[in-house]
Amino acid sequence: MRLLKHYIKSFMFLELLKGLSVTGRYLFARKITVQYPEEKTPMSPRFRGLHAQRRYANGEERCIACKLCEAVCPALAITIDVAERDDGTRRTTRYDIDLFKCIYCGFCEEACPVDAIVETHIFEYHFENRGENIMTKDKLLAVGDKYETEIAANKAADAKYR
Ligand code: SF4
Ligand code: SF4
Repeated sequence: MRLLKHYIKSFMFLELLKGLSVTGRYLFARKITVQYPEEKTPMSPRFRGLHAQRRYANGEERCIACKLCEAVCPALAITIDVAERDDGTRRTTRYDIDLFKCIYCGFCEEACPVDAIVETHIFEYHFENRGENIMTKDKLLAVGDKYETEIAANKAADAKYR
């Protein structure tokens, strides 16, 4: 009996029609895929991507070398050296983030009392040479300078979630 059913199904192409009906159903359904990189999905203002260091409007770097971010980093990805300036304020002489170690947890951003270190929306980056995984202070400040408007907007939007 089972064999007979199997033959009937085969002769009437029932399995094929079943498969085609699934294809037909999805042919006109709303598409859930996007043509990346031309199309992109919406991104939360809280997305944690490439790091940046920010400055104040007068050009002064925000970081006060308190080392809280270094202390809180669970991956030990941040290395900071500090020196005192002539005016008595502390500033970093070295601020490195090893992106190979970083787990993008956002703790550094949370810990920073002056909103100096942030994680941007940037996720499309790559390394071609040994050592490029180290984000130095200069590189971090350059990212911050370039994307400050967007970083400030995301910070403001993020504040609404709190
Ligand atoms: S995002 Fe997390 S792991 Fe990466 S540097 Fe900041 S604290 Fe460390
Ligand atoms: S980035 Fe923020 S938390 Fe880290 S040393 Fe500078 S001021 Fe302190």
